[in-house]
Amino acid sequence: MRAAVLREAGRLVVEEVPRPEPEPGELLVRVRDCGICGSDLHAAATLPSGTVMGHEFAGEVAGLGAGVSGWQVGEPVVALPYMACGKCAACLAGDGIRCAAVRSLGLGDLPGAYAEYVRVQPASCLRIPERVGFRAAALVEPLAVALHGVRMAPVGAGTPCLVMGGGPIGLTTLLWCRAAGATVVVSEPAEGRAALARRLGAAATVHPGREHAGSRLQALTGRDPEAVFECVGVRGTLNDALAQAGVRATVVVLGVCFGADEIVPGLAVLKELVVRFALGYAKSEFAAALAALEERRLDVDPLVTDVVGVEDAPRAFEALTRPTAQGKVLIEF
Ligand SMILES: [Zn+2]
Ligand SMILES: [Zn+2]
Repeated sequence: MRAAVLREAGRLVVEEVPRPEPEPGELLVRVRDCGICGSDLHAAATLPSGTVMGHEFAGEVAGLGAGVSGWQVGEPVVALPYMACGKCAACLAGDGIRCAAVRSLGLGDLPGAYAEYVRVQPASCLRIPERVGFRAAALVEPLAVALHGVRMAPVGAGTPCLVMGGGPIGLTTLLWCRAAGATVVVSEPAEGRAALARRLGAAATVHPGREHAGSRLQALTGRDPEAVFECVGVRGTLNDALAQAGVRATVVVLGVCFGADEIVPGLAVLKELVVRFALGYAKSEFAAALAALEERRLDVDPLVTDVVGVEDAPRAFEALTRPTAQGKVLIEF
């Protein structure tokens, strides 16, 4: 089968690799669409050569391993991108990401979906409803990440929200806030992505170096930001989020910064801020994202700005290291 394989210097190379067989207790999925994630761009610097990445995918069941029942070849499916023990308290609660034995798909433990076929665990799978296409279904993973974060803040009709960053997670966060009826300002330096944010329902966008997003929200709504979503994850953005938040606001950190960073705690103390850090999702949030797509509560079509075949995946991957107007980029098989 064809696969985009990580090789030296963080580059993808399209290669012919053996088609996997489902092991006992597993399903084989024929991948139809797989998103390129910002995490992949970061992970490419550290994962070993030979890794097949890709954890945001939708496809069809192509084979059942020994002992698997309840699934049929050809059924459309999305899968949470990991295999877990299925027996511990975390797994039983649908929170397998917290399982001590969890193995990620596409981030180093198990092969991912930058390939025609991928092995998954039935317990991680959800059927794609009839009204949801493969492209939209491939967005369920980032939608679930964003939903997990949005649920950590009190977001409802009219809530003034600030989303920092107009990448895929910022944009999916925007979609959930809009679906709840919130008024959202997005701060994003790349004009192409800012334009996409406005198309997806942002009341306004600001360039973070040139304008204070909190002031813009105040001008629009008469209120300071009550929920701030940090979706950038570089040095300085967490403190910026604390600075922009209003009194007793909730700051949700979805961006992942592994470097040391400085904050001024007094900013948060003076305003009695609630700061939450968000990672991943529960299976129920995957299901909620699928349901929202089925019921047309989210319009994700504009979010997909680029669809490429696997042969063009290396070029699209490289281009995303300097994003301009890309929303979500999908590899389609
Ligand atoms: Zn991702
Ligand atoms: Zn477990």
